[in-house]
Amino acid sequence: MTSLFVKFFIATLPYATNALEPVISRQTVELHYGIHYQTYVDKLNNLIAGTELEGESLEEIVREAPESQVFNNAGQVLNHQLYFTQFQSVEAPETYPSDEMMQLIDRSFGSLENLKHEVSKAASTLFGSGWVWVEADADGNLYVCQYRNADNPVRYGRIPLIAFDVWEHAYYLDWMNKRTAHVDALWELINWDVIAERLG
Ligand code: MN
Repeated sequence: MTSLFVKFFIATLPYATNALEPVISRQTVELHYGIHYQTYVDKLNNLIAGTELEGESLEEIVREAPESQVFNNAGQVLNHQLYFTQFQSVEAPETYPSDEMMQLIDRSFGSLENLKHEVSKAASTLFGSGWVWVEADADGNLYVCQYRNADNPVRYGRIPLIAFDVWEHAYYLDWMNKRTAHVDALWELINWDVIAERLG
């Protein structure tokens, strides 16, 4: 039964659906953003309609919900919101890590190249569906972590900075089984100004 209750919305896509080609095709964006992500939003709205969760923010739900359909859908709404808003068109002027971000990267990983290598490793060894995140703790230490299914760093008190969706729906049409090569190519789409804002 579809409810008329709508609290959460899909985030506005800050670029055209073909703007990420050839790393992410228009067809993949249309399916991934327009159908997968939208479906998580619709399911979450239906699940929380008429419950005490109607008054909670998305982040509160993701942080506090027990393992459940509510958690799975809320987690995927937050994950995809952060994922789709972190990219910029391949034709936009290139952006670079902020000075603060670069200092934190150097402190935790030694170099941006090492960070990228850690992300590659995490993407290639995550078994099944999930996410690889670059995240920060309250002291500004950075981490590369693997999360299963809908899980998100906010559940562990961390700040999510960069999201790598390694569910097959994110890359299979364009890259088939080449998950790690796809993840490596995502770096060229990152809008570092957005990442600096997340760091706060
Ligand atoms: Mn996805």
